[in-house]
Amino acid sequence: MKCEGCGIEFKPTKPWQRFHSTKCQQAWNYQQRKADAIEAAGEQRVNGHDLGTAEQRAQASEAFAVMVQNLTKPRELIKRRI
Ligand SMILES: [Zn+2]
Repeated sequence: MKCEGCGIEFKPTKPWQRFHSTKCQQAWNYQQRKADAIEAAGEQRVNGHDLGTAEQRAQASEAFAVMVQNLTKPRELIKRRI
């Protein structure tokens, strides 16, 4: 079969093998990531998750700061009513 990385003909040792060598696969993955990065240059994404707009990120970090404050402030004692 043909290597998906460099296109040379090779005999796979594993049925799922797509590349003639690990090195070739790593090179292909690297190129793929690079291509993806160029493609997504306009839209910032991390592991496929949209990071949102700068404004959304600011809102999220504000909300997170409030959450942290709530967690760190001393808890009011629970009053028993029975
Ligand atoms: Zn190859």
